Amino acid sequence: MKDYNRNLLVVQAHPDDAEAWCGGTIKLLKDAGFKISIATMTAGGMGGMNGNEQETIRLRKKEAAAAASIVGADYYCLDQRDGYVFDNEEVRIKMVDLIRKVEAGVIITHIANDYHPDHRAASAICDAAAIISSLPNVPSEEKPLDVTPLLYHSAPMSLSDPLGFPIPAPHFFVDISTVIETKLKMLGCHESQMQLMKHMHKIDDFFGEMKKFSAELGHMVSVDYAECFWQHLGGGYQKDPLLQTVLQSNIRTPDVTGS
Ligand SMILES: [Zn+2]
Repeated sequence: MKDYNRNLLVVQAHPDDAEAWCGGTIKLLKDAGFKISIATMTAGGMGGMNGNEQETIRLRKKEAAAAASIVGADYYCLDQRDGYVFDNEEVRIKMVDLIRKVEAGVIITHIANDYHPDHRAASAICDAAAIISSLPNVPSEEKPLDVTPLLYHSAPMSLSDPLGFPIPAPHFFVDISTVIETKLKMLGCHESQMQLMKHMHKIDDFFGEMKKFSAELGHMVSVDYAECFWQHLGGGYQKDPLLQTVLQSNIRTPDVTGS
């Protein structure tokens, strides 16, 4: 296996996504010695019920930074507008800058066919930026990486695509049972989202629902709580199973024989 930087960059669309889809795995990687950076494409300015967009942005950046600090992570925001995340040249370069700045060895972003349009755009931007992050001609102010980072994708809600069809089975699950409390503590920093989820998705207990989702994923591989991932194994990317190796004792795969 190549020598990848032990720097994890998590890129998600909104504050609370990183915690919801990969908080437990972030904690396990932190404990395994990784340096962690959490970035959101937006500060979630539309996700407020008691303040205008700017007030919500200020509040949610604070919440995201507090959640990141629980695992000693740095928090970055790419300051795109919530609900209007578009793939374009400028944002790709901004993303290359960040990938290079944190010297990412591994990136986790949304899966390409996620249910949420902002998540899909974030995934496309991240993919496009990661694949050119080692190229010297890219107009970035930061130094090119030596190796293209490994790219992984986090789970979409309900493991379904935008039309509600099930997506292909995850490449692997991570048993997060020992760190579920840390994940919930990180999620708990996003207090503003309790009321929003009630309004938007008719979810009365947002944090409870996230715990339930982790339990459902856990059930698929016979552990209490889990998260699941896909590795980006298409052309242009290295295929070394770095996360699967580092987290070996926590990695689970579903029993496809049905026995
Ligand atoms: Zn989101």
